[in-house]
Amino acid sequence: MTIPALELNDGHSIPQLGYGVFKVPADETERAVSEALEIGYRHIDTAAIYGNEEGVGAAIAASGIARDELFITTKLWNDRHHDEQPRAAIGESLEKLGLDAVDLYLVHWPTPAKDDYVHAFAKLIELREAGLTRSIGVSNFLVPHLERVVAETGVTPAVNQIELHPAYQQRDVVDWATEHGIRIESWGPLGQGKYDLFGTPAIAEAAAAHGVTPAQAVLRWHLQRGFIVFPKSVRAERLRENLDVFGFELTDAEVASIDALDPLDGSGRVGAHPDDVN
Ligand code: NAD
Repeated sequence: MTIPALELNDGHSIPQLGYGVFKVPADETERAVSEALEIGYRHIDTAAIYGNEEGVGAAIAASGIARDELFITTKLWNDRHHDEQPRAAIGESLEKLGLDAVDLYLVHWPTPAKDDYVHAFAKLIELREAGLTRSIGVSNFLVPHLERVVAETGVTPAVNQIELHPAYQQRDVVDWATEHGIRIESWGPLGQGKYDLFGTPAIAEAAAAHGVTPAQAVLRWHLQRGFIVFPKSVRAERLRENLDVFGFELTDAEVASIDALDPLDGSGRVGAHPDDVN
């Protein structure tokens, strides 16, 4: 199983599909990540706030997989943007993960009411220079937030990890990011199960046409749109299903009919609005 890699704007590359561990309970994480690594996943997306970095680290250590074959992302939580806190926070994350450096470190939310995300991103630039992370990026940033970090630090984030699925496509953010060489990572790629994507005709019909599940059709849509995905599951059969998306290709018409599912009124959002998280 070869998972395609995408190049980032800093010259490093990232496996386009990985495994996200949001809401994987701490005491289940080592087993779940070990299973994912055994199945063939090499890219793991975690965060300090998920409370399961130790489990990710234990699975990495037990796997015996060479460090340079893995791509590990973690994220700076909202209450640690200020002063030298990002340095302390990544130190704690690395300790829990048992790593010298992560591959990607993200500012988890912009928390705009506190107006400290530019400072936080500037600190991430220093962490990258210190070798504690190879690449740096942001998450849940809207266009005004992206504009400010680029203008005020002179560095363009490698990725912006945002809620994105067929019912909520954030086209304004995707277009701005794409124009500026920022890769989009789709969180909640399957709508977190809160939105009935799988019964939607455009998805169900594309899945039937290729003999795959609706989840596989949705993941394939992300990949063909150029997005990075890391669907979450704790079940081995679903981990396998979600990785088995490289043996078929949606037609342009199928991609276009899934593109057309976002009503553009914001109603498809399943998570919090970035302006409201502070
Ligand atoms: P997701 O869309 O991946 O949905 C996960 C849900 O879908 C789970 O409940 C799972 O049971 C179900 N599912 C998984 N595979 C399935 C399949 N093949 N068929 C049917 N159902 C299936 O949502 P998510 O976990 O929120 O997002 C993925 C990852 O994105 C997270 O684990 C995390 O790493 C990241 N994330 C980041 C942020 C952020 O603020 N940056 C927020 C949420 C999630």
